[in-house]
Amino acid sequence: MSSEEPQEEEFSIHWIRDVVNRVLERDVDTYIISSGKSPSGSIHIGIVRELIICDVIKRELKRMGKKARTVFVVDDFDPLRSLPPSTSLPLETWIGVPYSDIPDEFGCCDSFGDHWANELIETFPAFGVDPDIVWAHKLYETPEMIDVVRTCLRETKTIRKIMVEFVAGDFEEEQSEEYTTSMKDWYPASVVCPECGRLQSGVKGQISPNRITGYNPKTDIVTFECKACGTSGEFPLTEVRVKLVWRVDWPAKWYVLGVTCEPAGKDHAVKGGSYDTGLEVSRRVFKWPGPVKVAYEWVRIGGRDMSTSEGIVFTPRSWMEIAPPELYRYLMLKTDLSRAINIQPDRIPELIDEYERFERVYYGIEDATDDKRELARLLYPLCVTGPLRKEYIPKLSFRFAVMTSQTVDLLGMPAVVSRCEHVLKKQYGLEVVPPEAKALIQARLNMARNWALEFGSESDRIEITDRVPKEVIESLTADDRRFLSAMLSVLEGDELDDETLQSQVFEQARKAGLKEKRAFAVMYRVLTSRKYGPRLGSFLNLLGYDWVAERIRSVL
Ligand SMILES: [Zn+2]
Ligand SMILES: [Zn+2]
Repeated sequence: MSSEEPQEEEFSIHWIRDVVNRVLERDVDTYIISSGKSPSGSIHIGIVRELIICDVIKRELKRMGKKARTVFVVDDFDPLRSLPPSTSLPLETWIGVPYSDIPDEFGCCDSFGDHWANELIETFPAFGVDPDIVWAHKLYETPEMIDVVRTCLRETKTIRKIMVEFVAGDFEEEQSEEYTTSMKDWYPASVVCPECGRLQSGVKGQISPNRITGYNPKTDIVTFECKACGTSGEFPLTEVRVKLVWRVDWPAKWYVLGVTCEPAGKDHAVKGGSYDTGLEVSRRVFKWPGPVKVAYEWVRIGGRDMSTSEGIVFTPRSWMEIAPPELYRYLMLKTDLSRAINIQPDRIPELIDEYERFERVYYGIEDATDDKRELARLLYPLCVTGPLRKEYIPKLSFRFAVMTSQTVDLLGMPAVVSRCEHVLKKQYGLEVVPPEAKALIQARLNMARNWALEFGSESDRIEITDRVPKEVIESLTADDRRFLSAMLSVLEGDELDDETLQSQVFEQARKAGLKEKRAFAVMYRVLTSRKYGPRLGSFLNLLGYDWVAERIRSVL
């Protein structure tokens, strides 16, 4: 580990108490903790940091006897600006159309928006979050939301002033004047064109929205012009689909849903950004304070920012394939909100080790200082994804699972699972392996194998060929053969534990006059396609004496 990487002992969990205290200052009956995301393609795991922040605030409030709920808003009424790289949908057909109106190219969901949102939502139980789902396109159909849109149209002058203050605040004088002039006839909402179904036209960078061009508060009639197909006209507000501009849409949803707190990534939470604009709209238009703002830094992958539109995506499901979701919660919770979290998939085994030591400290079966025990007492219950268990479930070491999982093809799953149970029994002094622990074995083997194949280094991957290659047999010296014969005798004797077997390798190498390094290389090359591999004592036990003996005989 290099010096700039966070040390594993470094915890910064005060943020949880600080945020909860700020939320508690609000005097409400039920605390609504909200988050949201536009379903513009495969949604990366960064949003799960936000979902976990919400979940932890809710868990803490409930622990204090308060009523609290989490909400996840799917912003599927947003218009399409670009398509994910792998799609087959033609951009020109669907550009500017709300995600909820675009078909699902995979045919499994009601819309494009549904599909990508569902891909994320299906992982919620695994990550231990259970927000109520709000679909923005449906929210916009409710009388409450239509009423809020009406309020915004009536208060357009106030909103224009806020926009000028917030957006043009840092502009040079000339630019500021230009912006102020352009806002003179501006309305904070666009219309879904009844002819072509678009909210706007143009791709990223040159977007022209189908902005409302006038509103009559007495008749409740809006005028608009479609920039895509030229349709224009007057419509009663209740007969067209209207969407507020982002900086007003957000506070409108806060208001309708009664949001007490919402975390936001640094892009939105920046000073004077859309969050602050939204809070100002909340105060001056909706006459309430708006939610408690909680800013957090992004999650990065392998040192890069993730981006749905650029295809740099690591999804929650990809995580579940290689690591337990509890570990993700742990990484998010132990890090201050102001710090970026860099996911390094190649470090997963170390991180799992670290988390599982922490877990054993919580259950009092691993030595630790009082401070660490206290930390585990506070944090562990917030890391679990299901009910908090009274007793520790013994787990196979992930490192062991990495090696073991790759022998499944050779030995078969039942034999491997039975070997794993044997290891667990010895490690934890168990008479029998409890059913919960048994259930975890196979899941862990699959996870470890996925990790080894996708992110493991060469030394993490084992390949076992059907036969020992000819060139390996030909390269064996007389000393090598003497050593292998001696190992054969060891394997024909009584079964030894991993450590004793390991020391036998050293012992027999010495007797055969072979350097240790050579002895191990010979053993690995006879067993696998490489000169190195997992710890021999446990590896030989895993493969089974019969199989290894047969293998050695085949080269002598
Ligand atoms: Zn689908
Ligand atoms: Zn149109």
